[in-house]
Amino acid sequence: SCSTNDSVVELNPKMATHPCYSKQAHQYARIHLPVAPACNIQCNYCNRKFDCSNESRPGVVSKLLAPAQAAERYRKVKARIPETKVVGIAGPGDPLANPASTLATLKAVAKLEDDIHLCVSTNGLNLVDHAKALREVGVEHLTITINCIDADIGAQIYPWIYFDHRRLRGRQGAQTLIDRQLAGLKAAAEQGMLVKINTVLIPGINDHHVAAVASEVKRLGAALHNVMPLIAEAEHGTYFGLMGQRSPTEEELAKAREEAGVSMAQMSHCQQCRADAVGRLGQDCSDIDQDAEPAADL
Ligand code: SF4
Ligand code: SF4
Repeated sequence: SCSTNDSVVELNPKMATHPCYSKQAHQYARIHLPVAPACNIQCNYCNRKFDCSNESRPGVVSKLLAPAQAAERYRKVKARIPETKVVGIAGPGDPLANPASTLATLKAVAKLEDDIHLCVSTNGLNLVDHAKALREVGVEHLTITINCIDADIGAQIYPWIYFDHRRLRGRQGAQTLIDRQLAGLKAAAEQGMLVKINTVLIPGINDHHVAAVASEVKRLGAALHNVMPLIAEAEHGTYFGLMGQRSPTEEELAKAREEAGVSMAQMSHCQQCRADAVGRLGQDCSDIDQDAEPAADL
């Protein structure tokens, strides 16, 4: 709610110019740089042809950029949209499954600009290994998608993860992911990053469990929680869509946010922007430099 966000801003001035962390910052713009093609887990709500659902609306393919191209894209967009204050890396796969390109891109952008918020959105599997490096390149805002803290629930959301050169399935994969997500959250909070947690609300699977997620992430140092509705339509081709899983209703979403809100400040203005988003929240200017820039050859 608005008052929740006001109090967050009071607590933390760093959030005041970040449109994803503060409703009052909607005059500022953000750009997502699509430099991370690979992913290390499988979510049943993902369609690999499209952007990562961590932070993005399914249905649009990102044009991949190499780090130098991405920095150049930022430079051009900043020249056209000077209120661009946030550079995020959110896909189309997982940024920390592609740590070299993600870190190189962040470094290149930081070199061009002091007055910028750098942020990264991740499934959290590799976060504990990279939290320090992210902080060192200047990342202040981090989003982790944590849908559950119970491996029986996780096994229904993640058919497999790929960790330590092995594919782990079912409960074992889910438990490994959850343990690593929570350790990563703790490490990131200890590094001084502002950590936002995304939870995809999946009726019948984790809807009774969001309060437990909220209280655990609060304990480990998260600053903000974003309970977002599953987009399950079969035409997006997700496993959930094909299995007949439905999206939550408005009422179910409001109830889940209220329950999670007991322990965590809730963010309710999220636009679920795409991995190559440009401009203010809710504004899609991603074609802004399309003429000027050939497709990446990755
Ligand atoms: Fe897809 Fe993102 Fe899940 Fe990876 S983390 S499977 S890209 S939704
Ligand atoms: Fe950062 Fe997420 Fe906002 Fe993108 S949507 S700018 S990754 S907080």
